[in-house]
Amino acid sequence: MDTFDYLVIGAGSGGIASARRAAEHGARVAVVEQGRLGGTCVNVGCVPKKVMWNAGHVAETLADGVGYGFAVPQMSCDWGQLVNAREAYIRRLNGIYADNLANSGVTLIEGTARFLDGGRVAIADKQVAATRILVATGGRPEVPDLPGAELGITSDGFFALTERPERALVIGAGYIAVELAGVLHALGCDTTLAVRGERPLRSFDPLLGETLATAMRERGLTLRDRFTPARLREQANGMLFADDAAGHVLGPFDVIIWAVGRVPNVDGLALGRAGVSTDTAGYVETDEWQATTAENVFAVGDVTGRIALTPVAIAAGRRLSDRLFGGMTDRKLDYSTIPTVVFSHPPIGTVGLSEPQAREQFGDAAVKVYQTRFTDMYYALTEHKPKTAMKLVTVGSDERIVGCHAIGRGADELIQGFAVALKMGARKRDLDDTVAIHPTAAEEMVLMR
Ligand code: FAD
Ligand code: NDP
Repeated sequence: MDTFDYLVIGAGSGGIASARRAAEHGARVAVVEQGRLGGTCVNVGCVPKKVMWNAGHVAETLADGVGYGFAVPQMSCDWGQLVNAREAYIRRLNGIYADNLANSGVTLIEGTARFLDGGRVAIADKQVAATRILVATGGRPEVPDLPGAELGITSDGFFALTERPERALVIGAGYIAVELAGVLHALGCDTTLAVRGERPLRSFDPLLGETLATAMRERGLTLRDRFTPARLREQANGMLFADDAAGHVLGPFDVIIWAVGRVPNVDGLALGRAGVSTDTAGYVETDEWQATTAENVFAVGDVTGRIALTPVAIAAGRRLSDRLFGGMTDRKLDYSTIPTVVFSHPPIGTVGLSEPQAREQFGDAAVKVYQTRFTDMYYALTEHKPKTAMKLVTVGSDERIVGCHAIGRGADELIQGFAVALKMGARKRDLDDTVAIHPTAAEEMVLMR
């Protein structure tokens, strides 16, 4: 039986990062992967999504060109060509990941892993032993248990589409729902987004979801609120419909996409044999050191049910290896104040607490909010004029900034820098003391009064 210092299950964002860092510290490392290297992010997540978002951005920019005096011909995107180019790019990335693992001296074992006990794992008829084992198996899209639910596809199915759908319904209200609906609409598909509540992105600062809902409607996307799907059905001609319990009907569509959350990949892992506990939703329970309930078994990334973002999985995985194999005994991930971008149209950048969260945590009297809404100069000459909106949430007499939120052109790129400021404990006066960069949208972040 092969024996390693560290066996990583899952070659996604967290697993690869942790494996390579452990190998850099001199550990003998193996990674087990049942699918394509890079996991969700590279194959059916961030990477193909960003390519499609970029394509949507190009489509919008071409349309905006008319306002700038360009004689823009009627141009439509060849979806098949776009998908082929995207997948070729991803295949190159898969190869780079394989090379990187080999260059780091990490052994790749292809197959599906299942625990035999806390120190041994089986991959088909092969057994591998390791002093420490990492569960980094990620998650997969959830499909609700409703009549006809199987008629819908998920984000995985969206990335498998080789032709542009003519009419699509996206069901859900989180990151994936607004991102996929935005891409479909920008690329010319007649798109409906159905949310259960009053707006999308309910868990974000209300300014973001409200501004996005307005922008979507102004761009001609159909946003249907307060629609809780009860079943999907298909007509003889192949057209799809969604019904709610009150008899409201949405349709016809040629594609319906479920974007209602994700579930952890734990089926078949036999976690119980290793003594690894999961919570009621199936997520692997971990403490602040990424330790599970089993000694010498650790977990990072989406399978832990913590913030499900690629850089979070990577950071947790690297810090764990620094601690286990690099002698950095205090190294662990601080899960607070993690910035994130929603690649909607327009994009959202956000870090820290929403206004409702801050009010709940610190009390109304301690919270002061600064807010601005304006039209980016880029849109001065264009037909569409989506609003940019920004908010700073501060607490205490020294106005420490605990939340920074932006939606609008460039919000995706501006938030990283402000995240550094928040992490350093920036006060409102620090922003006031920073000279603006003109003419940009980002300057408004330091000019709010
Ligand atoms: P994964 O990347 O999912 O990797 C887990 C790996 O484990 C997979 O390769 C799987 O095949 C393998 N595996 C599972 N079980 C076994 C087993 N028993 N044996 C062997 N191998 C196994 N995050 C961002 O930060 N920015 C974005 O823009 C972004 N966009 C996204 C868009 C979409 C559509 C989706 C779905 C996600 C997006 N995310 C984004 C989230 C991001 O992809 C995840 O947070 C990240 O991939 C999690 O990494 P991970 O290592 O935990 O798991
Ligand atoms: P999310 O958890 O973000 O959102 C799912 C939402 O769908 C829920 O919040 C809920 O909103 C709604 N919903 C849940 N069940 C139903 C139902 N039965 N019918 C209708 N609506 C329902 O999940 P996603 O799948 O969008 O994304 C998973 C995670 O992946 C994200 O949380 C994020 O961490 C990561 N991700 C990150 C991206 C990025 O960084 N840009 C992009 C994509 C994903 P409500 O309660 O308001 O109805």
